[in-house]
Amino acid sequence: MSKGQKSSGIFRWYFQSNLLLRILLGLLFGAVLGLLVGPRVAVIQPLGSLLVNLLKMIVMPLILTSLVVGAASIQPRELGKIGLRIFLFYMITSALAVGVGLAMANLFKPGAGLELAAVADAAGKEFQQPRFVDTLLNMIPKNPFGALSGGAVLPTIFFALVFGIGVSVVRSSQEERLAKAGEAVFTVFEGCAEVMYILVRGILQYAPIGVFALIAVVFGKQGSKAFGSLGLVTLTAYAGFAIQIAGIYGIILILNKLRYGRFFKGAREAMITAFVTRSSSGTLPVTMRNVTENLGVPRKVASFTLPLGATINMDGTAIYMGVCALFITNAVGMDLTLAQQFTIILTAVLASIGSAGIPGAGAIMLLMVLNSIGITIEAGSSVAAAYAMILGIDALLDMGRTITNVTGDMVGTVLVSQKEGELNRSLWD
Ligand code: ASP
Repeated sequence: MSKGQKSSGIFRWYFQSNLLLRILLGLLFGAVLGLLVGPRVAVIQPLGSLLVNLLKMIVMPLILTSLVVGAASIQPRELGKIGLRIFLFYMITSALAVGVGLAMANLFKPGAGLELAAVADAAGKEFQQPRFVDTLLNMIPKNPFGALSGGAVLPTIFFALVFGIGVSVVRSSQEERLAKAGEAVFTVFEGCAEVMYILVRGILQYAPIGVFALIAVVFGKQGSKAFGSLGLVTLTAYAGFAIQIAGIYGIILILNKLRYGRFFKGAREAMITAFVTRSSSGTLPVTMRNVTENLGVPRKVASFTLPLGATINMDGTAIYMGVCALFITNAVGMDLTLAQQFTIILTAVLASIGSAGIPGAGAIMLLMVLNSIGITIEAGSSVAAAYAMILGIDALLDMGRTITNVTGDMVGTVLVSQKEGELNRSLWD
């Protein structure tokens, strides 16, 4: 066989074989390469950054266009009902998630007996707790174009929703001129949204290579640490993620007569992408594609519930907060009362809402949770040492957090579609 024929064979295999299989192979080979080569594997980081940047490039235009189309094709009253349902789902599962995290940490007791010395190299960090009204007010963009270009998801959702509702009102106007103009705006947004979906499909063709590089770098830098002294924290957190994904979401799906295996089959690409990119917002294009194409959710529902979920629904982050709060208090030999654990549940839910869907966000918001039980991080203190320890393996913990976060968004979205009678059940049988 000539050289040309051989390389076209590899190309053909690449583009014609199953995407998921390729992504899984990337994941596997990446992890092995990372563990074998160690930190030096970081030279292939650009291959991973390429995937992350491509996904990020598409996120804001995708949210804007698909949400405008979604809001314009839905009755405002229906939108309100979907909004309320998904919000309740997100809040309740987040509270359950912190409970799971605390239960796991009480069981495994990570950090106990560590008796940290009072010397640490973590810098002192102060945390200003944002006021609840401010969080709400900040959802309204002072400048929608600024929000869009700055990547601010919640304000963009708000603007896209009101704009979409406006389009729907103009479109259904009695006056022919207005109805025509409204229809034109709708068609433009609809066309743009379709283009975005095509671009996502194209970007995903590159995903296996990006996944390979991203996972290799994390395992190269941090993989070995997970087997060392921090193994118990990693294990505790991952036990929590597994219970949330397989147990809590599983029960929710089964109770709603949705086939468990079918869900995971349809959601796999998004779950793996979340795992390696460590970003719910970065994964959004894949999440949207999976729920609409594989799980039968209409775009008008997914375009609203998923960007919202990627911003406010962070069950994995909530579990992590429960586990790490207990790790830190155990490590410095502090006992937590039941009331303090309850405070952790409350603040962790708020902190997970406040965490952005980007890598490492949860680790910063953990400071808010620690603050709520009277722990501040002073430079050189033992608390700072314990915090620095978990920061050292944050990428590993973040992978588990993000896969849980994104799975929770998808379960909520499927459930709300089903409750609204909008789920294409034929895909589930
Ligand atoms: N990386 C997580 C996400 O994007 C947030 C976190 O750091 O907990 O969902």
